[in-house]
Amino acid sequence: MSTDNSASPQVHDLAERVIAAMRQHYSPGYPRSFEVWYAHLSGEMPALSIAMNAIIAGSNGEVGMADIDTLYERFIGTERLSRQAERTSLQVLGEIDAMMALVDQTLASSEKYHGRLCAMSDEVPPSADRQRLREWVEALVLSTREEVARKTQLETQLRESAHEIRNLREALESTRAEALTDPLTGLANRRHFEEMLQKAIDQATLRREPFALVMADIDFFKHFNDTHGHLTGDQVLRLVSRTMKDKFKDKAVITRFGGEEFAIILPDADVTAGKFGAETVRQALLTRELVKRSTNENLGRITISLGVAVYHRGDTISSIVERADSALMQAKRDGRNRTVTEEAVMDSTRVA
Ligand code: GH3
Ligand code: MG
Ligand code: MG
Repeated sequence: MSTDNSASPQVHDLAERVIAAMRQHYSPGYPRSFEVWYAHLSGEMPALSIAMNAIIAGSNGEVGMADIDTLYERFIGTERLSRQAERTSLQVLGEIDAMMALVDQTLASSEKYHGRLCAMSDEVPPSADRQRLREWVEALVLSTREEVARKTQLETQLRESAHEIRNLREALESTRAEALTDPLTGLANRRHFEEMLQKAIDQATLRREPFALVMADIDFFKHFNDTHGHLTGDQVLRLVSRTMKDKFKDKAVITRFGGEEFAIILPDADVTAGKFGAETVRQALLTRELVKRSTNENLGRITISLGVAVYHRGDTISSIVERADSALMQAKRDGRNRTVTEEAVMDSTRVA
C-alpha cells in the first residue's frame, strides 16, 4: 500500500474543523476566510492565532469579513509578500555574484593576452627568417582571435546578466508596491497610510506645512451587504475609491484604512480646505445611482460620513487619527451623510 495518502485523514479532519469554525463564528464562505481559519486551527501561525482569539473574545464570537481581511493582510499576505521579496533579493545577489565572476574572468583573460603580447614582442624574429616570421605572425593572429572571441562571449554574458538584474529589480519593486496596495480598490493600504501619515507629520513639524486628515466611513454598509450581497458591496467599495481618486487626482494620499473606512491625507490644507475636500467627495457620491449590472436593478444611493482633523504641534499618528475618528463618530451621531470637523466636536463638547 502506498503511504502517499497517510496525511490525508488529518488534512481532511482539519478542513472539516475549519468549515465548522467558519459556520460557528459567522465568517463568510470565501476562500480567503478559509485560508485564515486554516492558518489559525493548524497552529502554524501563532501570532495570527493570538489575534484571532482576541477577536473571538471581544465580539461575542463573531468573526466577520472585515476581521478576516485584517487578519489576512496583517499575517498571511504580508508573510507571503516578504517571503517573495526575500527570494527575489537572493536571486539579485546571486546574479551580482555571477556578474562579478565574469568581470574577474575578463580582467584575467585581458592580463593573459597582454602578457602574451609582451612576450611575443620580445621575440620578434629577424625579418630575413621568413619562415619564423610567418609563424610568429600566425601565433599573434591566433591569440588575438581567441581574445576577441572570449571578449565577445563575456560581453554577451554580461549583457544577459545585466538584463536579468534589471528584471529582478522590477520584480522587487512590484512586490513592494503590492505590499503597500489594497488589492480590492487599488488604493494604498493601512501600512502605506501609516508610512505616509508619519511622513506628513515629520514635514509639518520640520517645515510647518499644515495638512488635514479626513476619515470617511460608508453609512449602513452592513445593511447594504445583507440586502444586496457581499460581492455587490465590494463594487461599492470600488465606486467610493474611484470617486475619491477622481476628485483628488494626485493631490492627496487616498487610502483604505480598513473594511469600509477610508483615510485621506490632504497636504497644505487647513480645516476649511479639509472640510471642502471631504464635502466634494460626499456630494459626488450623492449624484451616483447604483445600478446592479447583472440585473439592471436600481440599488439607490450610497452615502458616507466624514470627519476632519488638522495637524497640531506634537501630533502622533494615533493622536491625529483619534481626532479625525471622533469627528467621524460625531457625524454618525448627528444623522450620517455629513462632514464634521474636529473644531465642531470641540464646540459641541463645550456646549454640553
Ligand atoms: P454605520 O453607518 O454606523 O457605519 O453602519 P455600518 O453598517 O456601515 O457599520 P458596521 O461597522 O456595523 O458595518 C461595517 C460593514 O462593512 C460590515 C462588513 O460586512 C462591511 N465590510 C467591511 N469590509 C468589507 C469588504 O471588504 N467588502 C464588503 N462587501 N463589505 C465589507
Ligand atoms: Mg466602519
Ligand atoms: Mg459604516
